[in-house]
Amino acid sequence: MFTPFNLAPYAATDARSRGRRHIEVSDPSRGQFQRDRDRIIHSGAFRRLEYKTQVFVNHEGDLFRTRLTHSLEVAQIGRSIARVLGLNEDLVEAISLAHDLGHTPFGHAGQDALNLCMKAYGGFEHNLQSLRVVDKLEQRYAEFDGLNLCFETREGILKHCSLENARQLGDVGLRFMQKQQPTLEAQVANLADEIAYNNHDVDDGLRSGLITLAQLEEVELFATHLSQVRQRYPDLTERRTIHETVRRMINTLVLDLIGHTRAAIVTTGVAHPDEVRAARPLAGFSDDIARQNHALKQFLRQHLYQHYRVVRMTTKAARVVTDLFEAFLKNPALLSAEHTCNPSGDTPRAIADYIAGMTDRYAMREHRRLFAIEDVLL
Ligand code: MG
Repeated sequence: MFTPFNLAPYAATDARSRGRRHIEVSDPSRGQFQRDRDRIIHSGAFRRLEYKTQVFVNHEGDLFRTRLTHSLEVAQIGRSIARVLGLNEDLVEAISLAHDLGHTPFGHAGQDALNLCMKAYGGFEHNLQSLRVVDKLEQRYAEFDGLNLCFETREGILKHCSLENARQLGDVGLRFMQKQQPTLEAQVANLADEIAYNNHDVDDGLRSGLITLAQLEEVELFATHLSQVRQRYPDLTERRTIHETVRRMINTLVLDLIGHTRAAIVTTGVAHPDEVRAARPLAGFSDDIARQNHALKQFLRQHLYQHYRVVRMTTKAARVVTDLFEAFLKNPALLSAEHTCNPSGDTPRAIADYIAGMTDRYAMREHRRLFAIEDVLL
């Protein structure tokens, strides 16, 4: 059995894993969670993250984050925290890289539109879809559908879940009914996601010009670091001042998270992943930093995600997704055989799987192919 060095007693290990759904011979050179990570990187859904939007549509600029670079940033932050806390870095990395695999094109606008389309057919939820991608939709292995990942990786991917869905999910749904936590690795990956997107949205938001430095000076977390950077490096260019400020914000959040989580681990005395599951959520920020982080999120919601230019993009995106869904549902003959035969044999779900798998640009192209009169022969 493969066990990385320096793991704390509360960390997930191969030996304590609840295993895979289909039993496989273990790999002589790699641990189980390393294998999971490798399978995720080689999946088609992972490659498509390169052309899926976080906030800005891919064609708006080459420097903006995509879901792929976002996932890599989450993995980086998650791994750093995991190493210090003696957690299983491979598991944190696997969860981080897979957490957004189920996202539709065009970010949350796409997901909300698809959820509305699927209202009468069981709904659509990107987090649940990420699990569906790794459990069913990736078709790469001879012996099973999906990637056959370990329970702990699947449990970590499923961050939230309604009780109704939990009942249908079996093993990974159980914790929502029992009101238990996932592993600390999953808790860390979840917060690494939050640290990554809040900070890169500040960076991308400033680069796009949709938010300004003057506005951000109202946000304590940003303002504190900005004034320190300006004091220490008064002649720095604005671009570098922003990078230096964001860098310090990330560092503050990471260090606070490590300190606060470590204290919670010591107080509760957890010594096994099952004790972590039964305990209160252990990974988290101190009250002061949680408050500052919340203020930053509120600022971004108000000034960036609801900026009229973003709203124009998201409205258009929602229309693309809705048009595609309605056209396919009305006439499933528009779908190629590959996309009609779904593991569940359920046409609306097959359409949702197809649309959710699209990149932003593929969805726009498909929309043009179906609706643009000049492209009638395509
Ligand atoms: Mg994310």
